[in-house]
Amino acid sequence: MKRLAILGSTGSIGTQALEVVAAHPDIFEVEVLSAHSNADLLIKQAIEFKPNAVVVTDGTKYAQVKEALSSMPVKVFSGHESLTEIVQWDSVDMVLAAIVGFAGLSSTLAAAQAGKSIALANKETLVVAGDLVMKAVTEKGARIIPVDSEHSAIFQCLVGEDLEQIEKVILTASGGPFLGKKTNFLINVKASHALQHPNWTMGAKITIDSATLMNKGLEMIEAKWLFGLKNEEIDVVIHPQSIIHSMVQFRDSSIKAQMGLPDMKLPIQYALAFPKRIENNFKRFSFKDFSKMTFEEPDYKTFRNLALAKDAMYKGGNMPCILNAANEVVVHAFLNNKVGFTEMSDMVEKTMEHVSFVEQPSLDDYSHTDKEAREYANELIKKGQLSY
Ligand code: NAD
Ligand code: MG
Repeated sequence: MKRLAILGSTGSIGTQALEVVAAHPDIFEVEVLSAHSNADLLIKQAIEFKPNAVVVTDGTKYAQVKEALSSMPVKVFSGHESLTEIVQWDSVDMVLAAIVGFAGLSSTLAAAQAGKSIALANKETLVVAGDLVMKAVTEKGARIIPVDSEHSAIFQCLVGEDLEQIEKVILTASGGPFLGKKTNFLINVKASHALQHPNWTMGAKITIDSATLMNKGLEMIEAKWLFGLKNEEIDVVIHPQSIIHSMVQFRDSSIKAQMGLPDMKLPIQYALAFPKRIENNFKRFSFKDFSKMTFEEPDYKTFRNLALAKDAMYKGGNMPCILNAANEVVVHAFLNNKVGFTEMSDMVEKTMEHVSFVEQPSLDDYSHTDKEAREYANELIKKGQLSY
C-alpha cells in the first residue's frame, strides 16, 4: 500500500486524485488530506477516505472541521506550519503537491527535505525556487514525479533514456480559448469568457494562466528545473488538439512524443503509481476521431505573458519569483473584474522592472521578493482603478 498525503485535496487536481485513489483501494491509502478554506468538502472527503490527519490551512475553519470530525479517529490541524511537519511523517510514502501558487512552496520543500517521493502538480514551487527545491531533492534523495501533463509526457519519454542525450524538449500548448485573437479583441475579454478552456477543466487560476499563455511560460521554467535543462533547450509549439502532451528531441534527431486524450487523471495516476502503470477504464484515443493534428508557432507579441516568462527564465535569480507573485495578484484581480485581460501583462512587466533583482536568492530572499512583488502589483491595481 502507498500511503498518500494529498495537499490541496479539494481542488481540481486533488479531487481527481481522490477519484484515482477510490478506484484502486488495493494500491493507495490516504494518510493526510489538506485544504485551505473549503471545510465542507474537506469534511466529506475525510469521512469517505478516513485519513490519519487533516489540515485546514485557513485557521478560521479549524473549529468547524474539528467539530464535524470529532467522532472519528482523525487528527485535525490548521496552518501551514502543521502542513510542513506532517508531510515529513514516516507514515507518508508520497506527497501529492496540489496546492495552487506560492502557498505550496513551504510544504513541497519540506517534503523534499524529508526525502519523500513527491507527485508535483504545484508548478509555482519550481518557478519560484526551483534551485532550492531541486537541491533538496538531490541532497536528501527525494524524488519528483511530475503531474503537469506536459512534464509527465516528457518524463515518460525519458524513461530508459540518458538525459545527456536530450537536444531539446518541446512543450505543447493548446493556445487556450483565444488562440488566433489579437490585442483589440483581448482588451475586452472578461473573466467568465477566459474561464472557458477548450480542452481542459481546471482550477480558476491555471485556467486564466492558460488563456494568457502564462501557464506555458511557467511550464518552461518548471521543465528547466525538473529535467536540468539549459534555457535554449526548451521550446513551445501550439497544438490546439492537446493530443500530443509534449515531446523530447534527442541528439540523434529522433523525437519521442507522449499522446492521449486530454484527461488529467492519467498523469495523476501515472505519478501516484510510478514506477508501475495501472490499468483503468479511461476513454481511449481513436485516430478516427482526430484525422488532423496541427502545430504552429506561439504569438509572443499578442500573448506577452509567454515572452515575459521566457525573459524571467533567462534572467534567473529571483526574476521568476517576481513574475509569479505579480501574476498571482493580477490573476486574482482579473477574476474579480478589477483589471483587464491585457493589463495583466502590463502589471507583471512593471513589477518585474520595479522589484530589486537578486542573483542568488536564499529562501528568505524568495519570501521577501514574493511579498514585495505582491505589494507593488497591488499598488498598480489600485492606481489603475483610479484611472477608470
Ligand atoms: P484549485 O484552485 O482547483 O485547487 C487548489 C487547492 O489548493 C485547493 O484544495 C485549495 O484548498 C488549496 N489552496 C488554495 N490556496 C491555498 C493556500 N493559501 N494554502 C493552502 N492551500 C491552498 O487548483 P488546481 O487547478 O487543482 O491546481 C493545483 C496546482 O496544480 C496548481 O499549481 C496548478 O498549476 C497545477 N496544475 C493543475 C492542473 C489542473 O488540471 N487543474 C493541471 C496541471 C497543473
Ligand atoms: Mg500543463
